[in-house]
Amino acid sequence: MAQLLEIRNLTKRFPKVLANDDVSLKVDRGEVRALLGENGAGKSTLMSCLYGLYSMDSGEILIDGKPVHIHGCDDAIRLGIGMVNQHFALVQKLTVTENILLGDTSSRSPWVDYSGGKKAVKELSDRYSFGVDPSAVIEDLPVGIQQRVEILKVLYRNSSIMIFDEPTAVLTPNEVLEFLQIIRKFKQEGRTVLFITHKLSEVMNICDSVTVLRDGKVVGNVQVKDTSEAELARMMVGRDVFLQPAHQAQNVGEAVLKVSNLKVKNSIGLDAVRDVSFELRSGEILGIAGVDGNGQLELGNAVTGLAKVAEGSIEILGTDAANATPAQLHKMKVSHIPPDRHKTGLILEFSVEDNLAVKEMKSKEFSSYGVIRRGYVTRFAKKLIQAFVIRGCGPETPVKHLSGGNQ
Ligand code: ADP
Ligand code: MG
Repeated sequence: MAQLLEIRNLTKRFPKVLANDDVSLKVDRGEVRALLGENGAGKSTLMSCLYGLYSMDSGEILIDGKPVHIHGCDDAIRLGIGMVNQHFALVQKLTVTENILLGDTSSRSPWVDYSGGKKAVKELSDRYSFGVDPSAVIEDLPVGIQQRVEILKVLYRNSSIMIFDEPTAVLTPNEVLEFLQIIRKFKQEGRTVLFITHKLSEVMNICDSVTVLRDGKVVGNVQVKDTSEAELARMMVGRDVFLQPAHQAQNVGEAVLKVSNLKVKNSIGLDAVRDVSFELRSGEILGIAGVDGNGQLELGNAVTGLAKVAEGSIEILGTDAANATPAQLHKMKVSHIPPDRHKTGLILEFSVEDNLAVKEMKSKEFSSYGVIRRGYVTRFAKKLIQAFVIRGCGPETPVKHLSGGNQ
């Protein structure tokens, strides 16, 4: 039987980086293929070329043994290729059905058959037990359901090759299990799934085969039954990796953060955090567990000065820090990596160096008399880029051009 999908010698270069270097792979009908690789390995770029979001510099794509030309998503969709991106492409104010009908170019009629569409969406949702209400407005839906809307879009267009870019990154453990069940069903139906992930357990759990990418090159194609997590990790990183680091108790010191009887309200004025107390000592890592939406966000925001403390206290190294401003907290050496780097972490249009320096701008090395000391800012960025191995950029690269993990 001919391979359903074949990519031959695909190369894609961005100004600063060779993102895909002579990549070849073959995937069969009904196969679930993992694309595995570290951040910046070129997984999203490869799939974006296949889906027509990027145009490749050279190479060939064949479906059922025939060369095809993909110059845009329209071409890809017509060829039965669908993609669910890491960042969903949904219009927040529109309903589920409206979103699904939006990109549908198959009908020649100038009229949109909304009620027909709604019925079709309902049927699809029922067939896969998605529990998606076709009339719901996107912004009212939790992330897990929004992802199902994206999957419904792909199903509505009846794609036989389905690409998922890190689909489980946004899901709770339970949702992940349900999602893997959905993938199994697609496989039973004979659909081909390309599944980007860096979670080895998911690869072992539902994939048939794995293509490992490193620095834009294919470093291996293996069958899941012939490999192990340790081997995959080694291929991914290029050296031995210890998956279970020996976890030793550290020398923990005095309390650096003390939260007592904290109460924080959410954006609509309801209690999000109620009477929470804990201590964090130096050298200690404190995990906070819970399903999204149970106050973690508001707790983090209160500790980092982004949300108001309604009651209770926060002390940092013995100093009262409740309702301190983010700038004051920065001086106290508190830092924050927010959950959504696009909304609150980065200024996407700014360069890497400006993003790295933005919090420091008031200190005298970075600016004097209100003028940015550009030379210092650039040197500072170069040091951090090297120390933290931020790949595929120079200090002046707009941060929006970096891959997710590098962002
Ligand atoms: P992965 O999905 O494996 O994390 P990507 O395919 O996103 O990796 O990125 C591969 C490389 O290409 C990275 O070095 C990234 O910085 C670079 N890159 C990705 N998209 C762009 C873009 N639009 N412009 C410039 N460089 C990019
Ligand atoms: Mg990616």
